[in-house]
Amino acid sequence: MSDVEEVFNELQTSKKGLTSNEAEERLEKYGQNSVTEGKTVSKFQLLIGQFKNPLVYMLLFAGLVTILLEEYIDAGVILSVVILNALVGFFQEYKAEESAKALKKMLASKATVLRDGKRIDIDRLQLVPGDVVFVSTGSKIPADLRLFEVVELSVDESALTGESMPVDKISNPILEKGLISSDQKNMVFLGTHTVHGRAIGVVVATGSKTVMGQIAEDVGEVVVSLTPMQMDFHSLAKSIAVLTLIAASILFIFGIMLGETVKEMFTVMIAASVATIPEGLPIVVTIAMAIGISRMARRNAIVKKLPAVETLGSTTIICSDKTGTLTKNEMTVKKIWAGGKILSVDGDGYSVEGHFITDEDAVVEPQGDFKTLLTIGALCNNSGLQEGGIIGKPTEASVLVAAMKAGLNPETLQNDNPRVNEIPFSSERKRQVTFHETPEGKVAYCLGAPEIIIKNCTKILVEGTETELTKEYAEKVLSENAAFASSAFRVLGATYKKVADANIDSVEEEMVFCGLFAIIDPPRPDAIEAVKGCHNAGIKVVMITGDHIETATAIAKKLGIGGNNPKLMSGSELTEITDEQLYDVVGDIDVFARVTSNHKLRIVQQLMKRGEVVAVTGDGVNDAPALKAAHIGISMGKTGSDVAKESSDMILSDDNFSSIFSAVEEGRVVYSNIKKVTFFLLPTGLAAIISIIGSMLLGLKIPYLATQLLWINLVTNGLQDVALAFEPGEEHLITKKPRKRGEKIMSQMMIERTIIVGFVVAAGVLATYVNSLNNGNSLEHARTVAVTTMVFFQFFHVLNTRSEMRSILKTPILSNPFLFYSLITALLAMIAFIYWPPLQWIFQTVPLTFTEWSTSMAVASSIIFVVEAEKKIRTMRG
Ligand code: ADP
Ligand code: MG
Repeated sequence: MSDVEEVFNELQTSKKGLTSNEAEERLEKYGQNSVTEGKTVSKFQLLIGQFKNPLVYMLLFAGLVTILLEEYIDAGVILSVVILNALVGFFQEYKAEESAKALKKMLASKATVLRDGKRIDIDRLQLVPGDVVFVSTGSKIPADLRLFEVVELSVDESALTGESMPVDKISNPILEKGLISSDQKNMVFLGTHTVHGRAIGVVVATGSKTVMGQIAEDVGEVVVSLTPMQMDFHSLAKSIAVLTLIAASILFIFGIMLGETVKEMFTVMIAASVATIPEGLPIVVTIAMAIGISRMARRNAIVKKLPAVETLGSTTIICSDKTGTLTKNEMTVKKIWAGGKILSVDGDGYSVEGHFITDEDAVVEPQGDFKTLLTIGALCNNSGLQEGGIIGKPTEASVLVAAMKAGLNPETLQNDNPRVNEIPFSSERKRQVTFHETPEGKVAYCLGAPEIIIKNCTKILVEGTETELTKEYAEKVLSENAAFASSAFRVLGATYKKVADANIDSVEEEMVFCGLFAIIDPPRPDAIEAVKGCHNAGIKVVMITGDHIETATAIAKKLGIGGNNPKLMSGSELTEITDEQLYDVVGDIDVFARVTSNHKLRIVQQLMKRGEVVAVTGDGVNDAPALKAAHIGISMGKTGSDVAKESSDMILSDDNFSSIFSAVEEGRVVYSNIKKVTFFLLPTGLAAIISIIGSMLLGLKIPYLATQLLWINLVTNGLQDVALAFEPGEEHLITKKPRKRGEKIMSQMMIERTIIVGFVVAAGVLATYVNSLNNGNSLEHARTVAVTTMVFFQFFHVLNTRSEMRSILKTPILSNPFLFYSLITALLAMIAFIYWPPLQWIFQTVPLTFTEWSTSMAVASSIIFVVEAEKKIRTMRG
């Protein structure tokens, strides 16, 4: 890009940045600086979305017909229902989105900018073109920036280019045009991060306009499909609509044949359609999911995308990182090896109190080779200690602490041997190199995975002399390494080399091997529990780690992954086999070790091909593709990179594996509650239809008005189905196998139950209706009785639906207080329906006698006995 002044002109800004007013205007114009969230749904779209539903179409049609029939009160009620329904749905979804946004805000990262001439930290999303931004070592680049002040800046652009070598940046103009991004050395790009140095730049592009944004858009375009449950509900709604139409048409023809008038039959048809449509269902589904989200958040799993709530419940396999997720990530060096000897290190955590102990239990000061090893550990290190914790990575901090236990002072060491260059650590390379200006000249130090860095060595340090690293000696070192690893230690090796200049190209050859650090990183106790829980719940746990195969195995055994004999595969084996070969074996493997992010993606893809529902964790920028590919991508709230967080569906605020399990548990609760609600609502519709047909067969007027049915569906049922969404989970939910992919909400059992309940309710309603008519009551009176019976049936039936199999005697009513209150409220609403004049006028109800109330109630209670008996029979049949 050309001259900075030109850039400033083009962006209408200057070195002093923007004022907050300008920034606000630009935010309006360019939108938020976000890659994944570019297209937010507007409130209007959200509202319109509520009407796009076959059930609503039917209601609207019914409303239209009622208007044509000049039944204006009925039309009013039907249309109010449609509007109310849409408003409630809108409000719920809006609330869900808002709380999701609030959660996101909690996790938002900051950028340092100049606004109104002052240096302030703002939410990264608020960045706009023209902002002047400061970056320093370790900064995530928050947007695409043209740099105008650069101090030794090198940037890791691997997220963009796949190239792990950091790129040095400049501020000079580059006149060539059409350069690919990696050659634009005076630019830094969103999604990359600085390794070293600092710089000031001006934002030239934000959000989806950035290079990263464009890539993300390409990726994002691939699949935006409905979740399985959403599809299931769509088809369920369609079937209900179709069935209703058929039933209503049959009713119509049937009625005409029996000699009813067309107008009369239209009224009946509308009543029947209105009755079968479970108006509340779509809303309750949203509510149940929103409740799931908040319950998950309380258990440290922050769901970013609503469908994840549902998918979580059907997860069959969880692929988890080891370090930090399954383990505590509180590392301590327990042993060091150098020149053929071992010293043990005592002391806990990151406290620098501790001793070095020989095999003979003597406490010693590490000297000679050990001292060299610890010195490398202290210098080739980016961590630090601070009050109450560490800065940087736990692995490095543990090494630093070990050096300090030996009396080394990292600060003095750094001052005497200043760092002049470095190759930072990456999970791909599994090592890091630093160059230092020492009193004896320039030296390069390397810390990393032993079996990898030893390949770059020709010598080994033994008792102060650099001796030739023979094949035998190398094998000895490696078997030492393996021995540590199989005792669950994470092992780091150290090498060094005197160099002529700080050139990174030729440093990694002919190095001198110096020794090993054996680091303990204990498994999280709650992860052990959670692995057990997953096992009981039929979910397989797979460990995917960059660590040594023996370390991974030892930790896997401690965690119970793969039982006593976990099946392994290493990264090098993975590289050798094709995707087809991987497909055949991937289901059996418990532990993948020494793998890279690319391997992770392949593993996830093949598991998905095998029909598994895959959740995968990741923290690095390179994990993004795997996170996106999996059904559920899970990123780490504490240690995860911004890119990983953006690509994931869920964020663990405590980085803990057990939170994944909690989320799965809550996901299952959500699904089961939605099922309960469905089973609560559908029989009502069926019962209404059956009783309408029944009354016609008996040559009577139908037992309810369309408006009365709407009242039942919306008010009394509405209160209870929402309460059902709050049901706590039942224990058996986490001891059952995950539900099958594509399992329908309406299982065989649910259909059978719906039919049984439908008939019993219809019979009960008809009985009280006919009885009332036979007692010489008016039609209105008998209808009020019928509606009351129907409502009482719901009161009792909702108790049945609280558990699929468990008896209601074993389901304490107060375990879901919402349900209890909803029953009381519904009862009060029912009393108003019958006794309050305005409602009497709209719904044409009349007061009932005490005997009528109690008869209705007694008849309705029969549904408890029926379903209890049915549950018993099913349990006995197994
Ligand atoms: P994990 O999947 O367990 O997080 P990593 O990719 O972080 O594994 O580490 C892989 C290997 O790289 C480790 O076994 C260790 O030998 C080495 N290693 C890890 N962290 C560092 C570091 N900060 N510096 C040098 N080497 C490291
Ligand atoms: Mg790691």
